[in-house]
Amino acid sequence: MSKQQPTATPWFETANPIPRSRKTVTVIGAGISGCTVAAALKKRGFDVTVVDRHNHAGAEASGNPEGIVYPKLSPRDDLLPRVNLAAIQFASDYYQPFWDSGLGRQCGVLVVPENDKARSDFKLISQRYADQTEMVETIAHDHLEELSGVPLQAESALYFPKLGWLPPQLVCEQLLKLNDIPLIQADIQGLEYAQDQANWQLRDAKQLVIETETVIIASAFDCKQFSQTAYLPLRKIRGQITQLPCTVESSKMKMVICGECYITPAENSLHGCGATYNKDLFTTELRDIDHQTNLAQIAATDAGLAAVLGQPSNESLTGRANFRCTTSDYLPIAGPVPNRAAMLEDYAALRRDAKMPMTSLGAYLPNLYVNCGMGSRGLSYAPLTAELLAAEIASETPVLSKELCQAMHPARFLIRDLKRNRI
Ligand SMILES: Cc1cc2nc3c(=O)[nH]c(=O)nc-3n(C[C@H](O)[C@H](O)[C@H](O)COP(=O)(O)OP(=O)(O)OC[C@H]3O[C@@H](n4cnc5c(N)ncnc54)[C@H](O)[C@@H]3O)c2cc1C
Repeated sequence: MSKQQPTATPWFETANPIPRSRKTVTVIGAGISGCTVAAALKKRGFDVTVVDRHNHAGAEASGNPEGIVYPKLSPRDDLLPRVNLAAIQFASDYYQPFWDSGLGRQCGVLVVPENDKARSDFKLISQRYADQTEMVETIAHDHLEELSGVPLQAESALYFPKLGWLPPQLVCEQLLKLNDIPLIQADIQGLEYAQDQANWQLRDAKQLVIETETVIIASAFDCKQFSQTAYLPLRKIRGQITQLPCTVESSKMKMVICGECYITPAENSLHGCGATYNKDLFTTELRDIDHQTNLAQIAATDAGLAAVLGQPSNESLTGRANFRCTTSDYLPIAGPVPNRAAMLEDYAALRRDAKMPMTSLGAYLPNLYVNCGMGSRGLSYAPLTAELLAAEIASETPVLSKELCQAMHPARFLIRDLKRNRI
């Protein structure tokens, strides 16, 4: 264990960095988390390979036909809305070339309040972000129909002109293709560090798949299948989206509208809306009840929306179901993977006294990183976490403050649980 001058959070500093010489990186997972980080590293000159159990990118959570770049602001100065604001600002620039090339649409996102609490929060949000009208502005009821194209009944709404929707699967594919990153199909069962070769060895059920200096685990909830990241407190939450036919009136919708759920403007005569939340359901089969839930949530979002959509027949509804990977604090997990056993030993004193000053730097597994826990906002968070990880691996200065990087740090749960004497 190495020591330094006391800082409030020494566990987030790496005590044992292993120098990188060959710059080979393997990313496990070809969803939006894996593809964005692969691209960010390739742009920095790393030799990057992506491994996925499917033969194409964006086959699981990142496989929906459309995903919204969602905002999640708050009138309070909490870490979550601060990270979210940084993420959506970064994401709106990041996706510009995709939108310019015709993937998805930067049509703007309009958020209508779900209840009285949201209504009063929105007033405070518009005051708080009054100097950032290029990112968010409040639209009064009288202007809502002209702006959105549909006769919304909301009193007012928050409008994010720089956001929109994207087809996540195509974005994943483009990220690999445009950056010339190979995708190997393999279901990785485990990884081991070969000390003598300073290499990670990734194996499937039968054989060694690849040896690599640096590994980034971006396999969403399945991070839990690897011993190194099994303890991360991730949850798997099923979600189903519904695609429904547009009507003459609903085809005038110009932007994504969010509230109880979201709905996209019609594309090829279909709106996309969603998504449901099911904690204990692990099937990707579509369920009629979930389509009905989505339609009910659209109606609850705004009666004006329900009116223009009419009543689509069951047979006209299609969709897709998959799984989010969520964390208890709703923030992603991005950074180096702690050496859990060493950390538990080094910081054991926190169990007795959570405020005990610590001087030991954190123990981390050599050149092993994780990028997961994107929850319902992978499109918003992944470009930023990818950039942060790539900057860290390339020893560059991060684009985000230390405090916000630490809010997404993989070691935060270990330290929290030690302080609460739970582990
Ligand atoms: C119904 C629904 C609607 C959603 N809507 C939105 C939205 O509108 N906007 C938004 O931002 N987000 C939305 N989300 C969330 C978003 O889809 C996720 O946050 C995002 O896709 C997560 O990306 P990921 O790369 O972390 O995970 P994934 O896309 O699941 O990628 C993980 C990859 O790892 C691979 N993998 C796993 N284990 C292994 C292994 N052992 N070996 C090899 N490969 C492995 C998998 O095959 C998979 O391709 C939605 C999610 C759902 C389910």
